[in-house]
Amino acid sequence: MSHGTLYIVSAPSGAGKTSLVRALLERLDDIQVSVSHTTRAMRSGEADGINYHFVDEATFKRMIERGDFFEHAQVFDNHYGTSRPAVQALLAAGTDVILEIDWQGARQVREQMSGVVSVFILPPSREALRERLSSRGTDDASVIDRRMRDAISEMSHFDEYDYVVVNDDFEEALAQLTGLVIAERSRLERVRERQGPLIQALLSRIEGVE
Ligand code: 5GP
Repeated sequence: MSHGTLYIVSAPSGAGKTSLVRALLERLDDIQVSVSHTTRAMRSGEADGINYHFVDEATFKRMIERGDFFEHAQVFDNHYGTSRPAVQALLAAGTDVILEIDWQGARQVREQMSGVVSVFILPPSREALRERLSSRGTDDASVIDRRMRDAISEMSHFDEYDYVVVNDDFEEALAQLTGLVIAERSRLERVRERQGPLIQALLSRIEGVE
């Protein structure tokens, strides 16, 4: 049976991960992003069920107890988790799935599943990262320093990933991300899985010919 590939994309806040993933989804078919559950407050411009499923602490705790999460973690001040049934259903239908999760979640996923492809997005420089973290609003220096510390802590795990993309030029980074998904789709084991009938037809012996 055809089975989708699970991708993990991690990055520090400010590296442009969400924009890259959104653009990737516009370029390729048969790939979707998993919508996580979180206890953090909704930001302006976000919608429930689109960016996240926004839930309270009690609901999140109940979901942990019921085993609803494929992975879950506290990321800085809030809880985040990936729904197990939602991801399993997509993969079973042959759809590739992207998890936009942090390094803790990535570790949990790798422990439970083989064939996972993980990508870490890095900003092009410290200065660019600070710039991106500052231009989000009118926060004071201490808030930006805190975001920088959090970003550096997330980035320290970049070498646990299969691929690393530096997001300097957006189009270039997008081409790298798209390219690696396309390459993964050509891997022998995936082609065997998805193109079974074609391979069988191509390799079947011709009657009377040795
Ligand atoms: P934000 O609150 O800015 O949307 O996300 C903060 C961090 O939480 C990001 O690093 C993001 O990758 C991570 N995150 C979002 N959803 C999940 C999830 O379902 N599981 C885990 N482990 N991390 C998540």
